[in-house]
Amino acid sequence: MNKNVQAIYEELSATAGLTFIPKQGIAYGKFDSFNVIINGNNGTSPFTPLISFFASTDGESVTAEECRNIRNGVDGIGDCKPNAEGIEITVCMCSGKDKFIGYCMDSLKTGAQFLKDNGYKNACPGCNRDISASPQKIGGTYMMVCDECYGSAVERSKQLKLVDKKERSVLGVFGAVLGSVIGAVCIVLLGHFGYVTAISGLVMAFATLLLYRLFSGKLTIRGGIISLVIMILMTFAAHYVNNAILFRAPISLAEYTLWDAMKEMPTKYFDPAFREFRRRFFGYLWLLYLYVFVGCVPFIVSLFRKKRAENQIATLGREENE
Ligand SMILES: [Zn+2]
Repeated sequence: MNKNVQAIYEELSATAGLTFIPKQGIAYGKFDSFNVIINGNNGTSPFTPLISFFASTDGESVTAEECRNIRNGVDGIGDCKPNAEGIEITVCMCSGKDKFIGYCMDSLKTGAQFLKDNGYKNACPGCNRDISASPQKIGGTYMMVCDECYGSAVERSKQLKLVDKKERSVLGVFGAVLGSVIGAVCIVLLGHFGYVTAISGLVMAFATLLLYRLFSGKLTIRGGIISLVIMILMTFAAHYVNNAILFRAPISLAEYTLWDAMKEMPTKYFDPAFREFRRRFFGYLWLLYLYVFVGCVPFIVSLFRKKRAENQIATLGREENE
């Protein structure tokens, strides 16, 4: 949020009797007896904030249809949906400070009145009690929850971290080497048929990363990088052996071993007679690396998903004080 937007939110918060936290771009507090959060960091524009009401009812919850209907005759409401606790309103896009604040106030008033009309009371979404609550980020969502419910959310996340296994890197490297050997064998055995390059590359990535995870207990970004280095080296080695076999094939001399071929190959690098051989060597090598990378993608995705999950609980007020 830039300074101009912040100033507008300060004014909105003052008008609505809410407290503004510039760092997160949210305003929170009680509006017409309901706990409410205005999230300005919702979507693409700070001028289409999400307003969440936290309430509960003993009777029936409002339906999505009823929610949609509250837009009728209210310019400021872009969308309204029921959530697990109360309702949430997306404010309509508009231009101009006064109009924006007007739209937000309309949304707040209409939302609170709608909840009252439908028998809702202010409540903490964790325990449904009407007690004092503070703004927190739980499961990636901003909520007004009581201290007790926030405490148990933190406790739960701690327990998740306790059962989180420790990474045993040395064993992991052993596993990765073992996995890459499987991949290398695959490259050499299947290497004579061009189309299986893809399979060999995928096997290399999967075997290396899976065995790293199996032996180390878990895969971290550091483990992923170690595995990647092993993969790059082993893929090159296997591809090299593979080509040495091809290199040696036309030479039928029994005393010309594979080892001799491997030693002689680099000396032919600038030999025009081996231009085609060189072109094929690098052509397949890059293709192989491409498939190794493709095989890594699912692991990279799961790594980042986990990282995001770890950052989902935070105390807003405390973050601001730091
Ligand atoms: Zn609670």
